[in-house]
Amino acid sequence: MSFKVDIRDYSQNQYKKTKFFDWTPGQHRFRFLQDEAPLIQSYWFGHGFIQANGFDDPQATLNRRIKLEHPDDFRNNKNWRPIQDRYYVNILDMTPSKTCPECENEVKAVNGTFPALCPACNKGVVSNLDAKPLNQVRVLTGGKTLFEQIPTVESQYVDEEGEAIPINTYDCVMHVVGVGSQRTAVILADVNENQKPKVYEIEVPPEEELFDLYTIVPKVTDDEMEQLIKGVSLRDVFVARNKTDEDSDEETPRADPVEVQKRVDELFA
Ligand SMILES: [Zn+2]
Repeated sequence: MSFKVDIRDYSQNQYKKTKFFDWTPGQHRFRFLQDEAPLIQSYWFGHGFIQANGFDDPQATLNRRIKLEHPDDFRNNKNWRPIQDRYYVNILDMTPSKTCPECENEVKAVNGTFPALCPACNKGVVSNLDAKPLNQVRVLTGGKTLFEQIPTVESQYVDEEGEAIPINTYDCVMHVVGVGSQRTAVILADVNENQKPKVYEIEVPPEEELFDLYTIVPKVTDDEMEQLIKGVSLRDVFVARNKTDEDSDEETPRADPVEVQKRVDELFA
């Protein structure tokens, strides 16, 4: 036998930027790559989400106090940050897209029409390019309204033996209306003329192309959360964390400061 241990090598760049599903109004096509979507409870700290640490974390405690002291207008308090339930899942996005020749950003149609210029860089001309299925792994995230649709869709279809047809064996079509907080989305199975899902096999991307859903939203300690509540920026919290790691003799994994900076910049982008 050959004994294998996957020792994590911190000198290697482990950082992989999460690529989120690009929501444009109109129709999208994708395949679910996982059969569950973890719930990550988070707080919005002005510039980004931070994972909640539980019922007794500093923000939860503060929320209870604010609610007690300002029962009528607690929502107007600047330190009131309600816990937000967000769900995450890896999908294979197959929506017809174009690739910007300038910045390599994916460009999707808006209500069926592609823009002439790449909206990300406003330089790349994409009007003369053909749209092809994106075929890239993306993270779909949303709240209850979106994610409760997934088991509902799956429960609508059974095969000849009366067995449920797993939702990851057929494509889903999503209709998106509106943008920002006004956005609504409806997920449907891609069905044939008999109203049955078009089951077919896709080339499933290798595991390493999936994103780690548990590290997408940064985690902080309770002490660090207190700093954030006091108004210290997330950037400074991470810088301080790195400094502490350097001071200690323990063999703690140390994040590459450049990578941390990059990561923080992206969070605040
Ligand atoms: Zn571009």
